[in-house]
Amino acid sequence: MLNPQPATRDSVHQLFDAVDAISVQGYDEERRVIYWNRGSELLYGYTAQEALGRRLEELIIPEIMREGVIAAHKEWVHKGVEIPASELELRSKDGQVVNVFSNHAMFINERNECEMYCIDIGLGDVKQAQAEVTLKENWLSAVFESTPDLYLLMSGNGNINNYHAGGFDQLYVRPEGIIGNNIADILPRNVALKFKAKIIEALEAGRVVSFEYELDFTGEIRYFEARLRSLERHEQVVAIVRDITDQHTASELIRKQAYFDALTSLPNRFLSLDRLLQMIKDMERESEKAAVIFLDIDDFKKVNDSLGHDVGDKLLVEAAKRLSLSVRKSDTVGRLGGDEFIVLLKSLTDCTGVVDVVENLLAAFREPFRIDGRELILTTSIGISIYPDNGDTATDLLRNADIAMYQAKASGRNTHSFFTREMNEMIMRRMEIEGQLHGALERNEFEVYYQPKFDVRDGKVIGAEALLRWHNPILGNVGPDEFIPIAEHTGSIVPIGKYVIEQALQFLVEWEGESRSGYTVAVNLSPRQFRDKKLVSFVEERLRDENLRPERLEFEITEGVLMAGQSYVEDSLGKLHQLGVRLSMDDFGTGYSSLSYLRQYDFDLLKIDRSFVSGITKNKEDRDLVTATIAMAHSLGLQVVAEGVETAAQLTLLRELGCDVAQGYHFSKPVPAKEMIGCRRE
Ligand code: C2E
Ligand code: MG
Ligand code: MG
Repeated sequence: MLNPQPATRDSVHQLFDAVDAISVQGYDEERRVIYWNRGSELLYGYTAQEALGRRLEELIIPEIMREGVIAAHKEWVHKGVEIPASELELRSKDGQVVNVFSNHAMFINERNECEMYCIDIGLGDVKQAQAEVTLKENWLSAVFESTPDLYLLMSGNGNINNYHAGGFDQLYVRPEGIIGNNIADILPRNVALKFKAKIIEALEAGRVVSFEYELDFTGEIRYFEARLRSLERHEQVVAIVRDITDQHTASELIRKQAYFDALTSLPNRFLSLDRLLQMIKDMERESEKAAVIFLDIDDFKKVNDSLGHDVGDKLLVEAAKRLSLSVRKSDTVGRLGGDEFIVLLKSLTDCTGVVDVVENLLAAFREPFRIDGRELILTTSIGISIYPDNGDTATDLLRNADIAMYQAKASGRNTHSFFTREMNEMIMRRMEIEGQLHGALERNEFEVYYQPKFDVRDGKVIGAEALLRWHNPILGNVGPDEFIPIAEHTGSIVPIGKYVIEQALQFLVEWEGESRSGYTVAVNLSPRQFRDKKLVSFVEERLRDENLRPERLEFEITEGVLMAGQSYVEDSLGKLHQLGVRLSMDDFGTGYSSLSYLRQYDFDLLKIDRSFVSGITKNKEDRDLVTATIAMAHSLGLQVVAEGVETAAQLTLLRELGCDVAQGYHFSKPVPAKEMIGCRRE
C-alpha cells in the first residue's frame, strides 16, 4: 500500500508511543530504523537509542530470512509490490525467537522518500497457550488410550456429544450410533433413567457422582460402574463407564463365602443370625409370633468317626436338602456349624403350625440316607423357642432353642421339645455352678470322701473309693453328679482330678499307717482327663513320691470314656496298665457295647451298676443279668465289684452268685478321710 500523502507523523507517532502492546518500527529506504516505539523495545529488547539508525536485517531478522527481506523491501520501494501481512519468526536482542504477526505499511514523506512501517503483534502468549492446549489434548488422549474405560460427553438432557472408547467392544452399540444420540436410545429404559437422574445430580452437585448398573447381553450379565462429573461452565457431563464384571464376580464370591456354608450352600451362622435379627424386627413391627428351631443330628459324631468325614459330609449335604424341602420358601434353613441346623419360621398364627413343621422336619429323616451304596438311618433332635414368649432377643431365642434341643436329646432323641421355664431354671443353675466352680479349688472348697469296699466272702475291708465333695458358700453342698459334668465341660476337671489323685494317695499312705494291710484306693477318671498329656507321668510321679506300688491305685472309668474312641484314650489306658495301675470299668451295664470294650482294654475289675444291684432281690431279669455278668467277667479274668449294696439280702445273694467285692450304704456311706482312718484304728 503506497500512501501518496505524507504521514501526519506527530499525531500517529503519539498514538504509537502510547501503545505498549504493539511494536511499531519505521524504516527508511535503506531499511534503517527511523522510528522505534516502546512496544518494540518490549518485544525485541532494543531501546530506541540502540535501534535508531541500524538496519532492519541486522536487528531482528534471522540470518536465513535476510536476503529475502531485503529483496522484498526493494521490490516494494521500487516497484510497489506490497509485503503481505504474515506470521513471522523473528529474533530479539538476546537471540531468542520472537513469534509475531507482522503488518507493513509504506508512506511517502515530505522529502518524497519511502518510509516502511512494521506493526508487529507478539504471539508469544498465544503460542504458549496453543502449546498448552496441544499438551493437554495429547495428555488426555494418552489417558484415553491407556484406560479400558468408555468416556461419554453428555448434555444435561442425556444427549451424547462425544465419546472415547479404547475399543469398540466397550461400546456395546455401533460407534456411529453414539454421537448425536441420547443415552435413552442406547441403553435399556431403567438404566437410562438412572443415568439421567445422575446426570442432573452431577450437574447440581459439581462433584463426582457414581453408580452401578447391569446389562444383560443375551443371557450374559455384565456389571458397570459409571462416574459422572460436570464440566465447569459447559453444562455438560463427562461419564466414565467401567466394566466391573470381574470385580463384581469376585466380591460376589467373597460374599458367598462369607455368608453361605461351603458344604451345604445353606446360609451359614453369620447369615442365619442376621436373618434371625431381621425376623425379630419384622415380627416386632407386625406384632406377630415366630419360631426358632434348633436341630442337631443324633450321634452324628459316631457316623463321622466310624465311616469317615467324606460320608459325614455327604450326609450333611443330603440332610440340608431334605430340611430345605420341608419348609416354606419364605422360611430360613441355615447351618450353624457341624451337625447343627437352624430353621426360622415367621408370622405364626399358633403353635400347632410349628408342630406340623417340626413333624415334617423329623419325617424328612425317616427315609434312610443312601450314601456310597450304604443305607444309613439318621434321626435328629429338635428344640423350639417362640418369639416373643421365650425371649425377644436373638441371643435368648437361640439359647433357649438350644436348651430345648438338649431336652429333646435327654428324652430319647428323634423328638422335639419346646422351651419351658423349668429348662431355663435348669440352665440358670448350671451357669451358677459353672461360675462358682471357677476358683473353687484355690478356695479349698473340695474335700474327698471315702467309701469302703468289702470282700464279699469274709466281710473284711479291702480298700475304698474316693468320692469328691464340694461345699460352696453360696450354693451349699453340690453333688458330684451335678458338678462333675460341668467341670468336665469347662475343663476344670483336669486340675480338680489331679487334686483327687493327690489326696487319695496321701490318704492311702495315712490309712495304712504301720499296718501294711495292702488297701487299695479307687479314683474316678473323667474322659476329659485323658486329654491331659501329662496324666500318666503325673500319676507315676505321685506314686513315687508317696512310695506306693502302682497296683494300690485303681482308676474307675465309665464307658463314656471309651465311647469317645479317641486314640489318646487308648494310649493313656495302655500306659496306665503298663505302669501297673489297676483299671476298673465303672457303672457296668448302663451302656450298650460294654462287652467289646472289656475284651479290647486291659481291665482288672468290673463294677456292676447300682441300678442292677438294687433289683437283684426283687426281679429275675436283674438277677439273671448280674449272674451272667459275673460269669462273663470271671471268664475274662476280672474281679467283680457290686456297687450300691444297701441290704443284707443283697449281700447274701451276691455272695451266692460269686461276686468278689461289695460297696454300699449297707456297710458305709462315703465318709471324710478322718472317719475312715479312725474306723480302722477301732
Ligand atoms: P460312681 O463312681 O458310680 O460312685 C458311686 C456313687 O454311688 C457315689 O455317688 C456314691 O455315694 C453312691 N453310692 C454308694 N453306695 C450307695 C448306696 O448304697 N446307695 C446309693 N443310693 N448310692 C450309693 P456320689 O459320691 O454322689 O458320686 C456320683 C458320681 O460322681 C460317681 O459315681 C462318679 O461317677 C462321680 N464322681 C465322684 N467323685 C468323682 C471324682 O473325684 N472324679 C470324677 N471324675 N468323678 C467323680
Ligand atoms: Mg466310681
Ligand atoms: Mg459307679
